[in-house]
Amino acid sequence: MSDAEQFAFQAEISQLMSIIINTFYSNKEIFLRELISNASDALDKIRYESLTDPSKLDTCKELYIKITPDRENKVLSIRDTGIGMTKADLVNNLGTIARSGTKSFMEALQSGADISMIGQFGVGFYSAYLVADRVQVITKHNDDEQYIWESAAGGSFTIARDTINEPLGRGSEVRLYLKEDQLEYLEEKRIKEVVKKHSEFIELNKSKPLWTRNPDDIKNDEYAAFYKSLTNDWEDHLACKHFSVEGQLEFRAILFVPRRAPFDLFETKKKRNNIKLYVRRVFIMDDCEDLIPEYLNFVKGIVDSEDLPLNISREMLQQNKILKVIRKNLVKKCMELFTEIAEDKENFNKFYEAFAKNIKLGIHEDSQNRAKLSEFLRYYSTKSGDEVTSLKDYVTRMPEKQKSIYYITGENRQAVEASPFIEVLKKKGYEVLLMIDPIDEYAVSQLKEYDGKKLVNITKEEILGDKIEKVTVSNRISESPCVLVTGQYGWSANFERIMKAQALRDSSMASYMASKKIMEINPHHAIVKNLKAKVEVDKNDKTVKDLTWLLFETSLLQSGFTLDEPSSFAERIFKMIKLGLDIGDEGDTAEPIEEDVPPLAETTESSQMEEVD
Ligand code: ADP
Repeated sequence: MSDAEQFAFQAEISQLMSIIINTFYSNKEIFLRELISNASDALDKIRYESLTDPSKLDTCKELYIKITPDRENKVLSIRDTGIGMTKADLVNNLGTIARSGTKSFMEALQSGADISMIGQFGVGFYSAYLVADRVQVITKHNDDEQYIWESAAGGSFTIARDTINEPLGRGSEVRLYLKEDQLEYLEEKRIKEVVKKHSEFIELNKSKPLWTRNPDDIKNDEYAAFYKSLTNDWEDHLACKHFSVEGQLEFRAILFVPRRAPFDLFETKKKRNNIKLYVRRVFIMDDCEDLIPEYLNFVKGIVDSEDLPLNISREMLQQNKILKVIRKNLVKKCMELFTEIAEDKENFNKFYEAFAKNIKLGIHEDSQNRAKLSEFLRYYSTKSGDEVTSLKDYVTRMPEKQKSIYYITGENRQAVEASPFIEVLKKKGYEVLLMIDPIDEYAVSQLKEYDGKKLVNITKEEILGDKIEKVTVSNRISESPCVLVTGQYGWSANFERIMKAQALRDSSMASYMASKKIMEINPHHAIVKNLKAKVEVDKNDKTVKDLTWLLFETSLLQSGFTLDEPSSFAERIFKMIKLGLDIGDEGDTAEPIEEDVPPLAETTESSQMEEVD
């Protein structure tokens, strides 16, 4: 192979390979699961392509994975007749392009994760170096020649046109040059054992698919093994639901809830292979986004439809009515599944710890299931002690005279519990829910009520409503009556301005982030002192309200924000000007105002303030 081209591994991949090679780790057998899983994915891909273009299979009709030990040369080979890789695929997929999972996996390892979790991070291929000190990938894609990729780690790999080996037709062969102490993987018995243990549900073992069997005859072990092969998870699932729907439309499905959230749960744009779609036992695709809403992106499983056409394309799926009905059913079944989990407190705690954000996102997004989802919310409260409470339990504790559900939001439990707002309600015997997850406010803004009872934020019963998160008394301002700062989770003035200027995909998020401002008040400032005195006399005074608004809007401008409603600001200013000019409301009817302009600083409140200042 004189024309071998050399490439450097992307730095993090190189680092990962060193860790794999040098870490003492006994459960090395998982490499086989990873390579078989890649082979199986490659078969899925060509099978899917062939649905719309059967000639793609001409290069090799049979779809299989074959594992062959070569004792003489101490080589274990894993051969598939899947899609194969072009030269560009080899360069990109096996070494030069960084993947988010590489770094995440190394971080996870540092905080105690196990090497067997590698598949979850999308870098399973490199587990080959657990047992081999040299690896070759011989591969043939329909669109390119046959190539050999080779690396003995050490930071680099080579790629060359393959003129030595037998033509593959199509697919890949991974050759592992086993380390001296790993020769057990040349023994048929050992290979069979590992395959049975880890790859039970892959093409290799095409028994009757699990989902076509009667749930009553399936043991939990079998579901667990199926779940693991489906997801690369190393732990059993937390809960599962196996069901069929019959009638106008027919499908079978198994849904799983994992025990933990994946490392990249909220990483957008990531394909997540959550629900695999089959049509009449034929695999169609494993990242069908239209099957389940985004907030349920942690649910794994398979769906096998009797009704969809086999040659359905992605584009067609988006429009497809059958798929919409399936989706609706899946969401409904998820709700049932969560309800079942909620029957066991310990399991539900695990579930909630991992997926509370998804539930809250669902409350925000899914109006149809909002009420159902709200049953799953859990909060600490002023009466819940060390446990969390559901809204349902909260309601049963409400004194008869209490009409609304009260909550407070903030950064942590200690901070919200110390809030003076809580004291007042405590005295009345009312319980307050403590919402300390930044997403809570986002969710509650849509929920609005539970069981016919309004959800009330106890800190927001002020004139400024939901425009600000809280008001604090500050010693750091000396000149202005007040300033606005953004809360820990809110947007800065500058960022808010940028976001407002863009067409936002999700405007509700914008209003949520934008509203997170804190008003810091200068208690020594004359305006503040004066306003306070007026509020004490009559807190419903209209002028006082207007002035408060003006104060808020002016400090918005002063702190670099833009106004949501410039016209109401202008109106208030005009009103003040009129007051200043002492012309009252009759000025509205186009009376010429040039005549008799009184001096500004004579009568009005606003001018009084300016004087004091
Ligand atoms: P993952 O499979 O999770 O994406 P891997 O590190 O195991 O991560 O593999 C990287 C990529 O290399 C795969 O996404 C796939 O594109 C390609 N690949 C690996 N093995 C094969 C194979 N046997 N046939 C075709 N492509 C493969």
